[in-house]
Amino acid sequence: MTRHTKIIATMGPAISSAETVDALVGAGMDVARLNFSHGTYDDHGRYAGWVREAAAAASRPIGLLQDIQGPKIRTGTFPGGAFELTPGDQVLVRKGKGMANPGEILVDYEYLLEDVGIGDLIVLADGLLRLEVIGKDDGGLMAEAVQPGVLIDRKGVAFPRSKLRVGAITDKDRRDLEFGRNLGVDFVAASFVQSAAEIEEIAELAGGSTPIIAKIELAAAYENLDAILDVAQGAMVARGDLGVQLPLETIPAVQRDILARTNRAGIVSITATEMLESMTNSIRPTRAEVTDVTNAVLNGTDAVMLSGETAIGKYPVQTVEVMNTICREAEKSPASRVEASAAFMARHLTFASATAKAAVEAATDLDLHTIVAFTESGNTALLLSKYRPTAQIMAFTPEPSTLRRMALYWGVIPNSFVRLDHTDVIISAAEEALLRMGTCDLGEGVVMVAGIPPNQRSSTNLMKLHTIGDATLDEKDGH
Ligand code: PEP
Repeated sequence: MTRHTKIIATMGPAISSAETVDALVGAGMDVARLNFSHGTYDDHGRYAGWVREAAAAASRPIGLLQDIQGPKIRTGTFPGGAFELTPGDQVLVRKGKGMANPGEILVDYEYLLEDVGIGDLIVLADGLLRLEVIGKDDGGLMAEAVQPGVLIDRKGVAFPRSKLRVGAITDKDRRDLEFGRNLGVDFVAASFVQSAAEIEEIAELAGGSTPIIAKIELAAAYENLDAILDVAQGAMVARGDLGVQLPLETIPAVQRDILARTNRAGIVSITATEMLESMTNSIRPTRAEVTDVTNAVLNGTDAVMLSGETAIGKYPVQTVEVMNTICREAEKSPASRVEASAAFMARHLTFASATAKAAVEAATDLDLHTIVAFTESGNTALLLSKYRPTAQIMAFTPEPSTLRRMALYWGVIPNSFVRLDHTDVIISAAEEALLRMGTCDLGEGVVMVAGIPPNQRSSTNLMKLHTIGDATLDEKDGH
């Protein structure tokens, strides 16, 4: 059986050749994430080229996810690339970019002196280090280490006790979105958004038709979740920054809640950050990480994401292999289907969802292994996916952009298809494709789902129980 949960892997310096990308695809990467918080346009263009080539070589669509930086505040760099702080150390924190003087931290926030006061907290590197502000003058903030550690270049900075004046979209984001549009990215992940209006603005800058994944990483985004889910095409539990904004011990329940509400909204849910973190340096994951990935699958996530593990880790390909193995094992549990489908069924009552639900039930009742979806926009495949069938969803589309987007949908196997005009011709062509690929045998029953009339963005409204071979025989008989 194929894996249903999709795997997103972040590109970065650890991926230094086309061969590595081929190996990532071979290991199970479904979507490549281009992280615009790091790297140059040349880097992103090179990764995108390698991903497209690897997808063509493997005859498997691979999505490209552009993750824009948003108003993330970062440190500059340090002499020697790292800065160690021990408890009680005092350090000058100054506004600026680039290389800091020894013993100082530069932070690229314009209003550092105006907005951060004595007693405020400075949280670095997703909570790894904490400083408390103990003094302030025109030169910067004097802060004391309350949680020590080693800080490396360009890590994120948060000020959970301060009220900052940050907008959602920076000039860099605007330039990056234009670059992404020209590159033909398949999704945009929107960082540090707080409202539905910000998602709509990013969608417009991304060209209007590219799906937007809302990264839920600010407390305000979680508070406005329902409004955000109404306009986004997906949501990511971005546990790194969210775990700085909210008490860490609340994250498991918040994750479960975000996944359930995202699934109920009928859009793509993603769980991200530190899923296999120890594999950045180790060939084996920890027991806790294996349990975490499993729990995300049992919580109903559509996709799991690797960040530093593949971008800067020692074992990018092995990490994807391990992720693949854990997801497959987790999916053996019927519980992995219940969370998402129950959440979804509670809300959607349309022709399309009723057709999809009937198709999934028919496949279950008749123990059919394949549901065939004909889709223009990918919506039919996504609806089927949200009902979490045990049958594989073979999705056929003539739209190249839909093909790559479906790479992110749980349980969906995207297939490109010629554009044909009549439903009977479409069915007979699908039969041929399924037989050619070895997906189905002659005489095997499948469920087919489509919107008719074909080739229009019409709602899913047709379910057909079909025996493979019947359409071809009908044609031969002259029916
Ligand atoms: C996160 O904060 O968890 C996240 C996914 O965002 P980034 O990797 O851009 O920090």
